[in-house]
Amino acid sequence: AVENAALTAWIREFARLIAEAKERLTELDSAIGDADHGSNLDRGLTAVVAMLDAEAPDTPGQLFKRTGMTLVSTVGGASGPLYGTAFLRMAAAAGAGSSLDPPEFAQVLRAALEGVVARGKAVAGDKTMYDALAPAVDALDAALAAGKSLGDALAAAVKAAEEGTAATIPMVARKGRASYLGERSAGHQDPGATSMTMLFTAAATTLS
Ligand code: ADP
Ligand code: MG
Ligand code: MG
Repeated sequence: AVENAALTAWIREFARLIAEAKERLTELDSAIGDADHGSNLDRGLTAVVAMLDAEAPDTPGQLFKRTGMTLVSTVGGASGPLYGTAFLRMAAAAGAGSSLDPPEFAQVLRAALEGVVARGKAVAGDKTMYDALAPAVDALDAALAAGKSLGDALAAAVKAAEEGTAATIPMVARKGRASYLGERSAGHQDPGATSMTMLFTAAATTLS
């Protein structure tokens, strides 16, 4: 099973990857948005790490709930409510136990996808974080159903997220600020898909 301590390490690693990629995420957002995705997420995840340092959560449900609430109150923009809702849905799916077995972990990520859709109404091809998250969740489910280990399943999910993110480059944005650009949004990688892929990269390095 995936223990609470490992899940906490996952969120910390996500924060580290976002801090490392802050400039690149903002650069991507400067092409098709308002140049704040890196600073938005880094501000939020820095607050999440401070929250974890102040008091370690007892359960995965509490970890995700406090992460979601912190992101909602600190990130702002479109991505704050989207990532926040994703983590709050993950908290509800995680329940009150102290660990998650691999199928439960996959259900938690499926709940994150459902939260993003409930909040932002994106569908495949809209050039959003959905285009990384949905294929990653599908790949995780498929790999676990095929009897793969969690490590192998997460590797498959990372690959799917990376491919989904690359596939956003030619897309014309239909949601969020990038959609204001219409056809001119094509030719640029979506910042939110890029950051979402880091959530899976962090999982692959901390939970395998
Ligand atoms: P803002 O656009 O408000 O400045 P950010 O720059 O932090 O917010 O986040 C932009 C990202 O949010 C986009 O790259 C896209 O992936 C994601 N996004 C925007 N709108 C939606 C939506 N309706 N559904 C899913 N993701 C969205
Ligand atoms: Mg922005
Ligand atoms: Mg903004």
